[in-house]
Amino acid sequence: MTTPLDLQRIIEIDRFALPASFLFPDCDLEALRPHAAVLDPHHVDFAAGTILLGVQSMVLCHGGLNILIDTCVGGCKERPARPEWHQIAPRIYLDQLAAAGLRAEDIDIVLCTHLHADHVGWNTRLENGRWVPTFPNARYLISGIELDHWLTQEGIAPGKHNHGAFADSVQPVLEAGLVERVEDGADLGHGMTLLGLPGHSPGQVGLELQRQGAPDICFCGDGFHSLAQAYQPDWHSRFCADGARSSLTRRGLLDRSARDGLVIVPSHIRRDIGFTFDGAGPRLLQTL
Ligand SMILES: [Zn+2]
Repeated sequence: MTTPLDLQRIIEIDRFALPASFLFPDCDLEALRPHAAVLDPHHVDFAAGTILLGVQSMVLCHGGLNILIDTCVGGCKERPARPEWHQIAPRIYLDQLAAAGLRAEDIDIVLCTHLHADHVGWNTRLENGRWVPTFPNARYLISGIELDHWLTQEGIAPGKHNHGAFADSVQPVLEAGLVERVEDGADLGHGMTLLGLPGHSPGQVGLELQRQGAPDICFCGDGFHSLAQAYQPDWHSRFCADGARSSLTRRGLLDRSARDGLVIVPSHIRRDIGFTFDGAGPRLLQTL
């Protein structure tokens, strides 16, 4: 029998509603109407025309390691262009981490699937007016492709990308020497490898976990932004760097799920933890 996974979710924002026409430009929400029984009310609000997301981290305790996957928007960050993200009270996140039985010092690995502002925020916290690493004993794993891309962008127009998240949430962990560059295929031991999931961002990586006697699991970041994309994998979000590439990445994950039962765990899925795909639609999972 497979041991249940020690996996907890740290929820920073639920729910985060974006107009479907904004998140998925040129896509017709009505195409999802036949699947309303699955999608509404937790993933799509048809009446309001919105896609409903959560902003959250996953904490995976596996192989003696406490692994934090993505670090949300962060506390006290200046994000005036997006009011839901601006100056979030820090206790919302840290209290949940404590309730999960973990101190910041206990986190061994922080995996930033990519460097968008809603995935790196708690990399740092404010201490005496300075941004310092929140998780002092962690290795922060960041794709080298992703890091180089945003370093280049920052060199061209400092602070103009991702709501300024690079300066307050990535640069401080770089300067502290806590960042470890990783790439597709990196072996973290204990059945865990990193999987390149390009498209949404240039160097996005997911965490793949192989378990004896159970299907593989892929924590895929924004490989899927919404459960809606399980029905419409060619819908790419406004925030995708390469929409066509992101579609290929999604289709690859869906194909694997239909073939081998791969469990797909997106960053922003609400209520349920993840899903498998049977060739026609998703089957939602509340535990793994
Ligand atoms: Zn995101």
